[in-house]
Amino acid sequence: MISNRMKNLHPYVPGEQPKDRQYIKLNANENPYSPSPLVAKAICDAVTSHPEKLGLYPDPDSNALKSAIARMLNETGGVLCRANVGADGKVSPCEKDKIPFEVTKEMIYCGNGSDEVLSFVFYAFFDSDRKLVLPEHTYSFYPVYAGFYQIPLDKIPLKADWTLDTKKMLSDANEFDTSMIFANPNAPTGLALSRDEVRKLIEKAPKKRVFVVDEAYVDFGGESCIPLIKEFDNLVVVRTFSKSLCGAGQRLGYIVSNPKLVDYVTTVKNSLNHFPVDYLAQTAGIAACNDSAYYVDCAKKVVSVRDDFVKFLRDKGWIVIDSSTNFVFVRKDGVPGEETYKAIKREGILVRHFSTAGIEEFLRITIGTKEQMDALKKIMEKI
Ligand SMILES: *Cc1c(COP(=O)(O)O)cnc(C)c1O
Repeated sequence: MISNRMKNLHPYVPGEQPKDRQYIKLNANENPYSPSPLVAKAICDAVTSHPEKLGLYPDPDSNALKSAIARMLNETGGVLCRANVGADGKVSPCEKDKIPFEVTKEMIYCGNGSDEVLSFVFYAFFDSDRKLVLPEHTYSFYPVYAGFYQIPLDKIPLKADWTLDTKKMLSDANEFDTSMIFANPNAPTGLALSRDEVRKLIEKAPKKRVFVVDEAYVDFGGESCIPLIKEFDNLVVVRTFSKSLCGAGQRLGYIVSNPKLVDYVTTVKNSLNHFPVDYLAQTAGIAACNDSAYYVDCAKKVVSVRDDFVKFLRDKGWIVIDSSTNFVFVRKDGVPGEETYKAIKREGILVRHFSTAGIEEFLRITIGTKEQMDALKKIMEKI
């Protein structure tokens, strides 16, 4: 009854969203803070003032949302935790994050979560006639899409210190004349490459192949590669509202790239799903972008709670990889990851454990509120 394609599907398994019990959820890298009050207000206003719009198709290309995203990026420099908020509430980028040109809406493509955006990027730019280069441990949805679109993979093991083996990635990319994708900061390690390190990679990678950097976590401490999109017309930067913009439930993601590549992704969109971003999601996204000061504050809080949590864990003998994200990747000698995950779950807190070979000793713990982390500290102290 089913197609051969269907038989070979291996779907992504997201962090659990339990219904049976009220857990503290630190397993899916969601933001512990609610979206800006302006978001809820915009949705309420839209529903009450313009209910007729729910009966109409939305703008297929999310033009107003793209403009709002471009404005927010120019305002913040694309790294919320380092942006400045003036006494008047005005947001400005810190010196090292300043984007040396104006991001315009033509450089943005917007979709239904960055997962969907990524799937269109895979379709648009990666082929089944050559291996796609990526780290062995990175966002685990990439291999799922590769399976879906039948793109062969060249998985490069991480180095012993968990950083990307950029030398090997580069030499393979050139040998196979192919593209590269990774998350920066990477998942689930939390480690980041600097913008200069990425620049050196792109400089030496095949110019005719698209180079994709997924910046889902960059607002919590990495360096954005958006400033490089004018230097390299083969660079695609993927970003999401789900982590730093407290919007996982809204399903909004986008790319920043040169307008030509944006057009290709738009063509894929118009061949698969003309209206990926619904009217309410567009409304909510625009409202979020108009309150970047609120999200700067949230990102700074997450970073401060994270740094405190890392220090606590290290004091208690846990091995914690340096994190530039809203999660930490941790283990303890002689303590099996899966059992720890279960022990923490019994106490009412969900964290993420991967049974993938090579990282099964680790737990990935999302940074929640100070209160949530205090509750977790009490449990982890005893392990
Ligand atoms: C969470 C995450 C995404 C997916 O984000 P959505 O916009 O919610 O689909 C993409 N890439 C990485 C690396 C992520 O961690």
